Amino acid sequence: MTDSALKPYLVVADDDRTRRDGVIEELRSRYGGDYELHACAADRLTHALEELRAAGATVAVVLATCEGSAEHLAGVRRLFPTARRALLIPWLGWANPETAELVLRAMARGWIDLYVLQPGRRPDEIFHRTITELLQESARLRGEGPAGATVVADTRSVRAHELRSTLSGLGIPHRVRPGDEGAPPAVTLADGSVLIDPSPGELARALGFPTEIEPHDADVVVIGAGPAGLGAAVYAASEGLRTTVIDSGAVGGQAGSSSLIRNYLGFPRGLGGGELAQRAYQQAWLFGTRFRLTERVVALERREGGLVVRCADGVEVTARAVVLALGVEYRRLEVPGLVELEGAGVYYGAAISEARAVEGEEVYLVGGGNSAGQAALHLARYARRVTILVRGDTLASSMSQYLIDALDETPNIDVRFHASVVGAAGEGRLESLELEREGARETVAAAALFVLIGARPLTDWLPEEIERDEWGYVVTGPNKETTMPGVFAAGDVTSRSVKRVASAVGAGALAISGVHAYLAEEATPRPARS
Ligand SMILES: Cc1cc2nc3c(=O)[nH]c(=O)nc-3n(C[C@H](O)[C@H](O)[C@H](O)COP(=O)(O)OP(=O)(O)OC[C@H]3O[C@@H](n4cnc5c(N)ncnc54)[C@H](O)[C@@H]3O)c2cc1C
Repeated sequence: MTDSALKPYLVVADDDRTRRDGVIEELRSRYGGDYELHACAADRLTHALEELRAAGATVAVVLATCEGSAEHLAGVRRLFPTARRALLIPWLGWANPETAELVLRAMARGWIDLYVLQPGRRPDEIFHRTITELLQESARLRGEGPAGATVVADTRSVRAHELRSTLSGLGIPHRVRPGDEGAPPAVTLADGSVLIDPSPGELARALGFPTEIEPHDADVVVIGAGPAGLGAAVYAASEGLRTTVIDSGAVGGQAGSSSLIRNYLGFPRGLGGGELAQRAYQQAWLFGTRFRLTERVVALERREGGLVVRCADGVEVTARAVVLALGVEYRRLEVPGLVELEGAGVYYGAAISEARAVEGEEVYLVGGGNSAGQAALHLARYARRVTILVRGDTLASSMSQYLIDALDETPNIDVRFHASVVGAAGEGRLESLELEREGARETVAAAALFVLIGARPLTDWLPEEIERDEWGYVVTGPNKETTMPGVFAAGDVTSRSVKRVASAVGAGALAISGVHAYLAEEATPRPARS
């Protein structure tokens, strides 16, 4: 049973006492066992939250009615960065121009995470579904809930980072606790079994993920389990093709490292990239897709029996068609001292698994794109300060306006223009960075540096026959076909792709329609030559 002293709070702010009591009652009836409830008037919200914070309480969700409360919600994040915040609006409230304008403004400025319809006739399951999701998200941000694994290692070591990244990629909620000095890193699983210094493959295998596969024939092999590969797999398997997916990591690709995807159709509040990846993985698996994770594909060639895909360990899978969904890899920052500190304070990509490890620390981030903006907002929940270093003099050309607005509204995020990292130092872990700005250099203390400066495709291993553009991206035709018959490509790895989750998923589906057309043509007997 939850210790009542540690129960997180649900807070409701509303000047209308009767309505407020109604919401509190509705919440108490469902969540009273696990959560404390607190009600206050709109203009008392900040004060009430300050008192809760001073008392060491945790706040999971704050709900406030539109009248006079929206601005007060703006301050919640500063006091309780992991609390979810929603505006309560009445049924049909969205049709009222003033309410609609308020909701849009509060969303755009990052004051709220969502709007919620005031509870109606009991039991109001629509209201509760939203509240439950908000509670679940808050628990996830706090790193609470059932842990599938515990990493026992020097919490700031490279190995701890690698183990955490593998677990995040596999969608396994986990905790980290310091190990005994000199002891090798280990992972304890929920069933009590202990893995000493496991490789990604060993870890994935122990957690029940498919990491091995015997040589077999498939209709289509998809290389890469990011959005494009998972999109292709769901469509291929659901349309009756024997489908195998192979990925050198876990599932989700780059999308798996996104803390919150806001622009994917059908998820108005956004959803974590890891969750999207896990849902898609289950969907593809339920349609009968075979997966092999943590194994790199190193060769592709045509032989007598079809296309042959070879994995690094020599296992071969023969396919009638292949979809390349290889995505891209982060570009490295060529600066002295960084290579030695990679994984020990220097991270490429959003590295959301590291966010809680930078609690209360000074964090720097290099990059001016949407992924950098998103990562900064996520890190700012935990870090004392996040400083974004941008080479140019504006973010407007590279970042969506909603993210620029949200950065402006977050007090512990700074953006420094015309700035770059020119050096890094630390004993076994990043301690300081040397920055350059308009010719002047300074050394700053830094616990972490996140680098998100674009990416490049890893396509060198593909056969010559597959045409690539000058940057190595695969050139495709209207049906996503490459210049090698039977081989298709989708997502970020393709030339001139849009670099979005939705377009990668769509391209994966399109590639499968190309596969169908190709297989149909292959099966049609050709007229005999006279
Ligand atoms: C931090 C971050 C945040 C983002 N946020 C958003 C967002 O909010 N909205 C949005 O629309 N887009 C977002 N994006 C962009 C989006 O994630 C990508 O456009 C999308 O993931 C591309 O999908 P993909 O399947 O083509 O490639 P990827 O996601 O890169 O997946 C490629 C997969 O292929 C595997 N692979 C590569 N080579 C091999 C090989 N030889 N053998 C086996 N496997 C291999 C990799 O391990 C990887 O899993 C974000 C990106 C990042 C990095």
